Amino acid sequence: MGRPILQIKFDEPHCIIAPALSIGCDSSLSMSDSFPSSELIPTKIGAHLSIAGSIDRAVDRAIEKNCETFQIFTRNPRGWKFKALDEEETEHFVRKLQMSKIDPAFSHMPYLPNLASHDKAIYRKSVETLVAELERAGKLSIRFVVTHLGSHMGAGMEVGFKQIADACNKALSAVQNDVQLLLENTAGTKNSMGGTFEDIRRIISGIDQRSRVGICFDTCHGFAAGYDVRTPEGLKTTLGQIDALIGLDRLKVVHLNDSKGKLGSHMDRHEHIGLGQIGNKGFRVILHNELIRELPLILETPIDNSHNDEWNLRKVRQLSK
Ligand code: MN
Ligand code: MN
Ligand code: ZN
Repeated sequence: MGRPILQIKFDEPHCIIAPALSIGCDSSLSMSDSFPSSELIPTKIGAHLSIAGSIDRAVDRAIEKNCETFQIFTRNPRGWKFKALDEEETEHFVRKLQMSKIDPAFSHMPYLPNLASHDKAIYRKSVETLVAELERAGKLSIRFVVTHLGSHMGAGMEVGFKQIADACNKALSAVQNDVQLLLENTAGTKNSMGGTFEDIRRIISGIDQRSRVGICFDTCHGFAAGYDVRTPEGLKTTLGQIDALIGLDRLKVVHLNDSKGKLGSHMDRHEHIGLGQIGNKGFRVILHNELIRELPLILETPIDNSHNDEWNLRKVRQLSK
């Protein structure tokens, strides 16, 4: 968010003070469509990239794909076990990232941890994983760690809220660095936590070091959870709710994914940009919103025979023009 922001509203003097403050102005939600294309805010577009080979290879891949931002798993996301970061690889990663001027880079928590779990063993391992991930991100000079909020597994939302806030508190007090923890909205699948902004607000309110916590908005998850981001009105309402309940200043990244599932289907199935229920028209709306354009935009779209990251990146760049 360190770039010059062109969307400042000159009729709102209190919005001019700083880009971060301008985000908080309700009235700035209403004018995204009226901007001539010559004044479009430049976007920061990237994708979730592989670290195969060595972790610094992710930066090479980001450069090859002309990404202005990117996200990685810093380790195998499908297991509990992982190796400590290799010092030399870490050094290479940090140096390559600095040289590339790509900023910010994101780390995503692995799949297995469940911060909302009341199962003692799983919960302990989940908190340990979060602690490790915050530390690893710090060493890699990655400023943000994105996490899912887990599932209460039938124990009820109240248990889930308590467990997640407690997990975040434990991890944030165990790791003293500049890394921010970003809570990602979910599709609101059965027992899952964080399907609504009310849920996420509730979780944040239980966290002590709130200045180290932000949110990640996933378009597929939001749409599947019932937030109709396809239309200018629906998107405005959604962003308005984030602002009212959480504060748009906490929104640090958007995961750009189309959705296989319909609006409110609670189905977490990512689709290629434009080929799902949000569609080309919906993504044009999303990509022309000035608040969205200020944020790093990360693709987590599938890679299959017909479409890959390059295809989706090209699509997003086209639709954002
Ligand atoms: Mn995610
Ligand atoms: Mn996501
Ligand atoms: Zn997802």
